[in-house]
Amino acid sequence: MSKQAESETFDPVDLFPDATDMDLRPGVDKCDKNGNCETVCPVAEVNEDFPGPKFQGPEQWRLTRKGDIEFDESVDKCLNCMRCDTACTNDVPLGQMHNVARANYVKNQKNHASREYLRNKMLANYGTLGKLGSMMPRISNAVFGLGATRWLNEKLLGFPSERSFPDFATQTFRGWWSDRGGDATSAERAREAREARGETGVDKKIAFFHGCYANYHQTEVAKSMVRLYESLGYEIVVPEQSCCGTPMFANGMLDDARGVAEENVDTFGSLVEDGYDLVATCTSCSMALRKEYPELFDIDGVEEVASHMFDAVEYLRVNEDLEAELAGADVDFPAMTYHAPCHGEVMGVEGIVTELFADVDGVELDDTGDVCCGLAGTYGWKDEKYDDSMEIGAEMFEAFEEAPGEVALTECPMCSAQIEHGTGYEVRHPMELLETALVES
Ligand code: SF4
Ligand code: SF4
Repeated sequence: MSKQAESETFDPVDLFPDATDMDLRPGVDKCDKNGNCETVCPVAEVNEDFPGPKFQGPEQWRLTRKGDIEFDESVDKCLNCMRCDTACTNDVPLGQMHNVARANYVKNQKNHASREYLRNKMLANYGTLGKLGSMMPRISNAVFGLGATRWLNEKLLGFPSERSFPDFATQTFRGWWSDRGGDATSAERAREAREARGETGVDKKIAFFHGCYANYHQTEVAKSMVRLYESLGYEIVVPEQSCCGTPMFANGMLDDARGVAEENVDTFGSLVEDGYDLVATCTSCSMALRKEYPELFDIDGVEEVASHMFDAVEYLRVNEDLEAELAGADVDFPAMTYHAPCHGEVMGVEGIVTELFADVDGVELDDTGDVCCGLAGTYGWKDEKYDDSMEIGAEMFEAFEEAPGEVALTECPMCSAQIEHGTGYEVRHPMELLETALVES
């Protein structure tokens, strides 16, 4: 039967009448097998052994109706880009289904004594690795930069030797924040900015979710965000926080992810109650708190945290007249090409950056179009997936090569790492561009 004919004769059946709120099985009833999700899956495009999102989602979950709870090992090959989730026309919770199926597979069927499991556990808990590496950043950078270390890491742990480990910043973002005077200094600077802008009496306060990467590696992005937001009058608080859990979801370590989600919801939920909105500079972090937490965990306050979580550019777009702010900007940037991260598309923020800078004098900005970078957090950090990761990224690399200029712009630190690896381009974050345009110019 053709896909069109299947769609026309689709008649939803209530297979799971006793389902509870967190039960995924009813989602299968919504799938009319139209195959839209299949057309956007980057893994299915390069790997003919991967059965695709429809199989990973509704078809596997339909089997659970018959009591067959063995999940297919291919669910471990999904890179959790969520492009299928965005593409589904019938609101089938594909991302949620994949996350739970992968977690079941990893917990009950994967060999926990294998090298692969140990490597994935390390990747999933990157926050711990980042904390250790940043204690002595210069030594860590020197050791991770050695060819012998890369060779050993590949042989012993399965990290591809082709990739360079990202450098640790010589001072973490949290260290910089603390030396600068912490929350009290931010409140003072923001108050002065509000006075200068004639906004006295206006309540502007946000809590920053910096995540792991902006704390240990891309600290300049977090600092730009702070200076930009304060210049617009926002008081910032930076509470103690855990990893968002994205690498845990991607590696099927849902128990670990629940642990960090509980800590983050507790911390940021209290701040929401105190009137703070939540902002992140990494779209995977904001997506975790906004979409994955409420989809996967029944935690008190999770919905409130999700509904106050914003991407840093998105938040300013919603709350400030950025066009007016940018109208007087005088910047002289090199030509740049923007790449929209898949997780930004899931949150519906993918068009904001190009739209925002379209008419700014001194900014020439192209776009790579709707393509996946292929690194997807930890996927491209596995030697058995390295070739697929680079093949997926090939379309994006080509788009960069064809666009004028050799500077890239993206919100996601992992896309950024893949762009650097595949093109050698310098990569900037929209917060840095906005800071230059609005604070420095
Ligand atoms: S999340 Fe991405 S890789 Fe996984 S099945 Fe969906 S589209 Fe494919
Ligand atoms: S796009 Fe949604 S409805 Fe269509 S086949 Fe995929 S899961 Fe089913």
